[in-house]
Amino acid sequence: MTNATTTADTPTPARAIEIRALHKSFGDLQVLRGIDFAVDTGEVVCVIGPSGSGKSTLLRCTNLLEEPTQGHVLIAGTDITDPDVDIDRLRRRIGMVFQQFNLFAHLSVLDNLTIAQRRVLGRDKAEAVQVARQNLVRVGLADKEDSYPAQLSGGQQQRVAIARALSMGPELMLFDEPTSALDPELVGDVLAVMRGLADDGMTMMVVTHEMGFAREVADRVVFMDDGVIVEQGTPGEVLSNPQHPRTREFLARVL
Ligand code: ADP
Ligand code: MG
Repeated sequence: MTNATTTADTPTPARAIEIRALHKSFGDLQVLRGIDFAVDTGEVVCVIGPSGSGKSTLLRCTNLLEEPTQGHVLIAGTDITDPDVDIDRLRRRIGMVFQQFNLFAHLSVLDNLTIAQRRVLGRDKAEAVQVARQNLVRVGLADKEDSYPAQLSGGQQQRVAIARALSMGPELMLFDEPTSALDPELVGDVLAVMRGLADDGMTMMVVTHEMGFAREVADRVVFMDDGVIVEQGTPGEVLSNPQHPRTREFLARVL
């Protein structure tokens, strides 16, 4: 028997990410022109679109690396555009991986993974090392903890960057073209790590040009052009049966 009262009293779990009427301008340049968009917990969303369409700006607004000009960004129900929010505390809950890996060149892999855990989260050395080692296993680099970034391939460096982000225990991960700087033969290992995270239930928002990854791993694909979401849907809908001419034009160029 259904019970209407129970249903009404059960709070709807907050979305992992909710973006409402987001606008972002740099001076006169309107880069995001009204984005409404949400990501559920455990969902993997791939964002695709031409260069300059605002994909990186959207990701950067999601963890307040850029301040929205207008609109709201909620992370697990907390409005991060509220001036009272402790943004450093909030940002720790969001892992970010960039095209450029940004590892500390003068630190070993292990130290790259422990430094923020110790300085930002206040973990003691033993705990930080244990967490780091677990995450190096996760990205297939358990044997590289004493290496320095320059001794690793680009793909290995990016996997270290992913392990570093994971070591902070984020509840969601943002990826901005994580494989775009890599030689083609190194892309697969990084995508495999990301696929593993998706399989483990990580909430992920991934800007990518890897249409194969989007097709196989994304729950939803979002096509952006000129600062707006033009269309979104399952990979099958957006990649195989696009409804909008701009999506078709873009896919014809990249597929
Ligand atoms: P995408 O990631 O889709 O290639 P971006 O979000 O990087 O697009 O950029 C969208 C537009 O915003 C581009 O025209 C870019 O030059 C501009 N832009 C991005 N960041 C800045 C900034 N910090 N200052 C000025 N213009 C910027
Ligand atoms: Mg970009």
